Amino acid sequence: MNKKINKSDFKTDWSYSPAPESTDHIKIVKKNDLFINGKFVPPEKGKYFKTINPANEQKLADVAEADKSDVDKAVKAARKAYDKVWSKMDPSERGKYIYRIARLIQERAREFSVIETMDGGKPIRESRDIDIPLVSAHFFYYAGWADKLSYAFPGKQAKPIGVAGQIIPWNFPLLMAAWKLAPALATGNTVVLKPAETTPLTAMKLAEIIQEADLPPGVVNIINGDGKTGRAIVEHEDINKIAFTGSTDVGKMIMKSVAGTGKKYTLELGGKAANIIFEDAAIDQAVEGIIDGIFFNQGHVCCAGSRLFVQESVADTVISKLKDRMESLIVGDPLDKNTDIGAINSKMQLEKIKMYVDIGQKEGGSVHQSSCRLPEKGYWHAPTLFTDVSQSHRIVQEEIFGPVLAIQTFRTVDEVIAKANNTPFGLSGGVWTDKGSKIFQVSKSIRAGVLWANTFNKFDPTSPFGGYKESGMGREGGLEGLMPYVNLV
Ligand code: NDP
Repeated sequence: MNKKINKSDFKTDWSYSPAPESTDHIKIVKKNDLFINGKFVPPEKGKYFKTINPANEQKLADVAEADKSDVDKAVKAARKAYDKVWSKMDPSERGKYIYRIARLIQERAREFSVIETMDGGKPIRESRDIDIPLVSAHFFYYAGWADKLSYAFPGKQAKPIGVAGQIIPWNFPLLMAAWKLAPALATGNTVVLKPAETTPLTAMKLAEIIQEADLPPGVVNIINGDGKTGRAIVEHEDINKIAFTGSTDVGKMIMKSVAGTGKKYTLELGGKAANIIFEDAAIDQAVEGIIDGIFFNQGHVCCAGSRLFVQESVADTVISKLKDRMESLIVGDPLDKNTDIGAINSKMQLEKIKMYVDIGQKEGGSVHQSSCRLPEKGYWHAPTLFTDVSQSHRIVQEEIFGPVLAIQTFRTVDEVIAKANNTPFGLSGGVWTDKGSKIFQVSKSIRAGVLWANTFNKFDPTSPFGGYKESGMGREGGLEGLMPYVNLV
């Protein structure tokens, strides 16, 4: 049943006067079933869990919890759709469906942005200007490849691999769904997708669009649940490929579970990116890049620039400008267009961030937080930085996934390269300098999948993304993002 959201449902006492984006135009389904074989169906065991708005802890909706038998039902639907329809369809026809999905998302972009912000806590400015436009861009981009695979892989035939099980996290809910679905569909595979437990709502809206786009039943199945549901997908014997984005710990479990089964897999896991500022950088721009690197999406970003390295001669200037800039960040109502930092996605994540801030202090780090007032209800964390930390500190080595920056200094290029590489992760990094030669030297020497020069956190569907070491394997995006979904013959 669709119910209009009243503004009073989401009232929170903010310490300033926000002008929130209207919620009048959106419809949140209050009881979300599983999307299997083109229909919304209740779960076998009849269990539902609630999803809340982390900015005010109010319930938004109930969501069906899929158990093993529901997973099996979804995989069977995906298999049938694969065998009978999708893998046999003319690729240009497949492309038309994907274009249709892209256009429908564009048409309903405002609705998607508002729901993404309410369910996940990210500022509306980010969901409206970054997440949702990138979602449709991904579908447009891969729709274009659907009938051009022979150009992507000259001299080879790209055959689909079958049913893909896709498990996504809560930091970019709809965007991660797009990263997974678009290349899989363009290459002729069918899908069982599981969104994260705390952010299921935009994926359920996507299911509505998939119905509206008239996609053949079973090509995309979307089922919710917790880690057990994810595990049931990974372990299902009729799944041919697993695509996972999330924590390194779960990624390792998945690797063990699929070992020897012949299932293909891609893993996009954690990160601890080095953001490197040389003395010849444009300092004011670099400060903006540092802010964006660590505070974008409350720091819930796998490629966040969470380790800052500043050349010693400019360290005092950079840190002082950084502290000034942190003061001007607005922490508050995610639906307000002026908000820079929204709510932390869940209570559990907030506790994890606080735990690391404690650890950082106990290990001798000096902490600085912006003096913003945090709302009483909901999950919030002030923008935070640490100085007086070294390579051995846990907050320098481990992924916090929150708005917490660890700052170190360096003197030479070789020193900073060695420090930047001293991490189990290898997802991303940034370098800020006036000298092209330094950019090449640093980007060549840092073992990370993505290196930004004089910018940070720039994403584009044409550009491959993925990591080395404990940051995972395989690439998503770009031509490379087609590879995990095809067998080349
Ligand atoms: P998880 O890795 O647990 O969650 C990612 C996805 O995997 C979710 O859909 C989750 O379901 C599902 N999942 C959980 N357990 C299993 C399992 N055994 N088998 C298959 N799927 C499973 O991350 P968390 O949400 O617990 O976050 C923990 C930490 O992970 C964060 O603090 C952060 O450091 C890191 N993280 C990194 C991300 C990245 O992009 N690199 C993204 C998200 C988190 P459910 O939501 O129900 O738990």
